[in-house]
Amino acid sequence: MTSNTDLNDALMARARRVIPGGVNSPVRAFRAVGGTPRFVERARGAYFWDANDQRYIDYIGSWGPMILGHGHPAVLEAVTKAAEQGFSFGAPTEREIELAEEILSLVPSMEMVRLVSSGTEAGMSAIRLARGATGRAKIIKFEGCYHGHADALLVKAGSGLATFGHPTSAGVPPEVVQHTLVLEYNNIDQLEQAFAEHGADVAGLIMEPIAGNMNFVRATVDFTRRCRELCTQHGALLIYDEVMTGCRVALGSAQSVYAQAIPGFEPDITVMGKVIGGGMPLAAFGGKRAVMEQLAPLGPVYQAGTLSGNPVATACGLATLREIKRPGFFESLTAKTRRLVDGLSAAAAAEGVPFSADCQGGMFGFFLLPQLPQNYTQVMKTDGERFNQLFHALLDRGVYIAPALYEAGFVSGAHSDADIDTTVAAAKEAFSLLP
Ligand code: PLP
Repeated sequence: MTSNTDLNDALMARARRVIPGGVNSPVRAFRAVGGTPRFVERARGAYFWDANDQRYIDYIGSWGPMILGHGHPAVLEAVTKAAEQGFSFGAPTEREIELAEEILSLVPSMEMVRLVSSGTEAGMSAIRLARGATGRAKIIKFEGCYHGHADALLVKAGSGLATFGHPTSAGVPPEVVQHTLVLEYNNIDQLEQAFAEHGADVAGLIMEPIAGNMNFVRATVDFTRRCRELCTQHGALLIYDEVMTGCRVALGSAQSVYAQAIPGFEPDITVMGKVIGGGMPLAAFGGKRAVMEQLAPLGPVYQAGTLSGNPVATACGLATLREIKRPGFFESLTAKTRRLVDGLSAAAAAEGVPFSADCQGGMFGFFLLPQLPQNYTQVMKTDGERFNQLFHALLDRGVYIAPALYEAGFVSGAHSDADIDTTVAAAKEAFSLLP
């Protein structure tokens, strides 16, 4: 298959002339793994076809949103009907209320929600809201967690314990991240020290509850409990970034999984995206009524959007959520994802490849490491070259996983057991080729 990438190559050459790096989001460029990105021609169910009409089993699903697979009939029908009624009005619609009600019923820690167009926008607005509601400036985030590309969140850990971070992008002046404290994920000591030093100034702590931007790393239950306790104790808001995990790891999102271990557990603000838009540009942030009422037009925290609550996007999100609420959907999705993870683990073991893997609902991750990592430093101990070889061996066999070792994978309702078994067989061959 790799010998037959001529049309993808031609498109990439053309794209590079007019789009920086040929792509509209950096990870699509195959920079880490090398080779030519596949240009998607069309997609259906669990598959997409590239410019060479080559079919791939898709474990990216647009980086998470496509939980029903591509082209689900109920979603297509809803989107088509909505488009016929109008693309965008810049005035309220009943469908926005329906989607808001649906989201609140699935994630009851939110009493009110505002719809926006991207996870970046939602995360950025949640931070502004936390600062506005508390009258404080400092934000705690964790290394390896991604919350979109708003300036204040493009920051990596400084050297030493509990220092303020450094910008990870040119164009972000250090003053813009001076209020962002970057800590190690799952490190309770650091967290306690940070709150002891800065607690009175912390507006909010933002975290991915299961970090999908360092592959798949769960926050431990103890760490989660401590995040909640310290935020409450110091009057800071706990912000759960569930853009990736929302309605993906469970119908009630990751917070419902942690609530099973920590009775009564709730974040103060939740950031959602991906699945709630079903593949259309739609995201949201929400929380307790008193906090959300700080937003304009009621309160002093400004936030707005020409396309916010877009009628076609809301139709897509609503239809998607109604499908995943059907009895048995999540049980089946979870079983399929587990089948994949168990199959990959067995195949790696049979080939003597050090391997660890984890999953929750329809989200999974695996590492070419003997043990599951707990933080970003441990994730990055993966041998990148071996991962790249595995990636290409899978791609050659028609299996499309994320082209970077620090990204999670996604199974959809459209993946069949046969697709998963085909994937596992391909992986066994791919493992056997690793040096
Ligand atoms: N937060 C998390 C956890 C994400 O995974 C992402 C994107 O992958 C974002 C925020 C940003 O979302 P978007 O790409 O829609 O701006």
